[in-house]
Amino acid sequence: MSTLLIRDAEVLVTMDGARREIAGGWLLARDGVIEAIGTGEPPAAEESVSAMGCVVTPGLVNTHHHLFQTLTKAVPGGQDALLFGWLRTLYPIWAKMGPEEIALSTTLGLSELALAGCTTSSDHLYMFPNGSHLSDSIHAAREVGVRFHATRGSMSIGESKGGLPPDILTEGEDAILRDCADLADRFHDPADGAMTRIGFAPCSPFSVSRELMRDSAILAREKGVMLHTHLAENDEDIAYSLEKFGVRPGRYAEDLGWVGEDVWHAHCVKLDAEEIALFARTGTGVAHCPCSNCRLGSGVAPVRAMRDGSVKVALGVDGSASSDAGHLVGEARQAMLMQRATLGADAMSAREALEIATLGGAAVLGRRDVGALEVGKQADLVLWDLGGFETAGAWDPVAALVLCGPMRAREVFVGGRAVVREGRMATVEAPSTLSAARRAVEKLAGG
Ligand code: ZN
Repeated sequence: MSTLLIRDAEVLVTMDGARREIAGGWLLARDGVIEAIGTGEPPAAEESVSAMGCVVTPGLVNTHHHLFQTLTKAVPGGQDALLFGWLRTLYPIWAKMGPEEIALSTTLGLSELALAGCTTSSDHLYMFPNGSHLSDSIHAAREVGVRFHATRGSMSIGESKGGLPPDILTEGEDAILRDCADLADRFHDPADGAMTRIGFAPCSPFSVSRELMRDSAILAREKGVMLHTHLAENDEDIAYSLEKFGVRPGRYAEDLGWVGEDVWHAHCVKLDAEEIALFARTGTGVAHCPCSNCRLGSGVAPVRAMRDGSVKVALGVDGSASSDAGHLVGEARQAMLMQRATLGADAMSAREALEIATLGGAAVLGRRDVGALEVGKQADLVLWDLGGFETAGAWDPVAALVLCGPMRAREVFVGGRAVVREGRMATVEAPSTLSAARRAVEKLAGG
């Protein structure tokens, strides 16, 4: 038995049913689960952390990432390219990676996310060069201590079959499905408080066959895991779908079993009204990645229309090669700004953006045990110190987190365990990890 007390919070942002914000609040967790929340004299606990001057929020949830790309940030040939050109630049570099690079990039990317308040992250790993495997990332994530939804991606249509990726990065579809089944059996934990969950995630409709999309959905339901892919990211994506499949992406997804409470799609920038209604009707989730959409010039996702239509929307930082930053408050801010840029200043509030980053993410990943600070939920929480220059002069500390940010977290707890302490990783040795990153980049950049 261990108890953790967070006390004297300037504001405790609960994201509970009433969206209570408790001034001067405290929170008590026992064995990683929230046991009590209150004001006034706090109870005793084995560990007591002062949140004086801090906003305390639920841990943020990241629903789309390609952690392996963390070693290919700001690559010159990819900096200004559109999506397909960008992929063609990076495929040959990724083809040089192996198990060590997959593990290292996972550690780097999850640490970056954790330092900015993320406590649950999904990942979409869709190529396995040089003997690498999804388990390389799962083991690395366990060391970091962030909840990890590892989705087993895949590409089976290479250049020789009219696809985009080089053949060397593609796999046979039978082998893909076998590995998916094996991963679900070995690693998927459906229980509350799970640190590892598995999902199946063919890279995109343009890199695998119709059959693999369909069979992945059938297998996922057999194994009780979720489905994830990229959908309707930009105009090229829609044109490709119409030309190759004769239907828009929403219809393609629906025909192959890719809608439902157990499915979430990344981007969805180009969903039309009918597709938004389809997603709402079926409970299909969306991972909105605003910085990536800006970075690649993909457009502005219709998030206001999705939210108003009761579509589940969450945030994703996307692969580091297409947004170069893994900061979820930055994404929340960008999501808010993009809706305002197109629809007006009242299109999304700072609080709504924060809700999408927490509750929204938990809903999209099918987790009822995280995303809010409520009795019975996991003690996944973040202390944001408002004592710095970014927020000096702010009148509303909760709105300031999004409007004035992005800032880094001071403390981050996952299931009551400290992952970030005083703004530093508590679970990862920073100097050796960062020097390993420099060596890895030199190696990948070399011949
Ligand atoms: Zn992506």
